[in-house]
Amino acid sequence: MDPKEKIVVVGGGFAGINFIKRIDRNKYDVLLIDRNNYHSFPPLFYQIASSGLDPASISFPFRREMRKMKPRPIYNMGEVKTIDVVEKKLTTQFETIHYDKLVIAAGTINNYFNMTDLYKYVYTLKSTSEALRCRNEILDRLERASITTDLEERRKLLSFVVIGGGPTGVEVAGAIGEMKRYIIHREYPRINPDEVQIILVEGSDRLLQVMSPSASRHALEYLKSLMVDVHLQRRMQSYEDNVLTFSDGTKIYSEMVIWTAGVTGVTFEFKGASPEMGPGHRFVVDEFNRAQGIDDLFIIGDISYHADDAYPHGCPQLAQVAI
Ligand SMILES: Cc1cc2nc3c(=O)[nH]c(=O)nc-3n(C[C@H](O)[C@H](O)[C@H](O)COP(=O)(O)OP(=O)(O)OC[C@H]3O[C@@H](n4cnc5c(N)ncnc54)[C@H](O)[C@@H]3O)c2cc1C
Repeated sequence: MDPKEKIVVVGGGFAGINFIKRIDRNKYDVLLIDRNNYHSFPPLFYQIASSGLDPASISFPFRREMRKMKPRPIYNMGEVKTIDVVEKKLTTQFETIHYDKLVIAAGTINNYFNMTDLYKYVYTLKSTSEALRCRNEILDRLERASITTDLEERRKLLSFVVIGGGPTGVEVAGAIGEMKRYIIHREYPRINPDEVQIILVEGSDRLLQVMSPSASRHALEYLKSLMVDVHLQRRMQSYEDNVLTFSDGTKIYSEMVIWTAGVTGVTFEFKGASPEMGPGHRFVVDEFNRAQGIDDLFIIGDISYHADDAYPHGCPQLAQVAI
């Protein structure tokens, strides 16, 4: 009997893990590479950030998932850096791996829109660990604020700015707003909830641009009921020394800025040939998720771009689409 062909899957998010579950593993050996050893559920990252859920309830070790699959796929930890599509091999920080067929399902990363140093100073929500970092900082600030009697210090500790009024920004601002309205007086009796300032900044003229105007209106009303200040049509230009500067010249002081303003496809160094790049650093694929002109390379999920009559600007970057 011929040896089985080897499929390597880069990324075990919604797209990668569902592909592995459904591919006929009697026909193929399957190897998953992911930089983290767990699958996570991004739609609930904001709940981790606001202490509504524990990380373990939205993160599942790959090895435990794979134990249940027969024949069992293999998981190796690693961050894929280079892909040689001629030699059919890829490299991580730990090893070089050969493949017969490659499935890239690496999703997206935060887009800082050329503000190259911004990632060092802001909090983000693109992984369980980023959401945890956010949560730890919020809790640390609440604890410190409930100790100090210096009013100016308390004001600084209790000011939170969220940049980006898309679904993630609205969710996280709302979740901190719910803490302000329902949790703080109970858990932190020395903090007056009115001292907590939450500002959500959006560049366009409405929240949730990807949704209907009525959804935008409802989101705005709900955030106002949670005492979140929403600033529309303000574009952030820089964040230096804890000062946010906007394109209209206005400034806001904040020591905790949560950045949810956009995503861009994960990048790789390709050798031999590169798949065509579409909008948002996504790779263009056909209706079978094949990269054009490169043998045995398939790209799925958020990092793929397929436009057709139904979706002339490409399929939306959503969990259901990836699945
Ligand atoms: C905060 C947030 C909230 C969201 N809310 C919703 C929602 O409510 N509803 C909805 O439908 N969608 C939501 N989405 C979008 C949804 O999560 C994505 O569309 C979906 O996760 C895409 O799946 P994917 O498998 O393509 O990529 P991902 O889920 O991003 O998975 C990519 C995987 O690849 C791994 N990886 C990346 N680069 C490398 C590399 N170089 N080497 C090895 N491994 C790598 C990552 O560790 C990750 O496990 C949300 C996203 C975020 C970030």
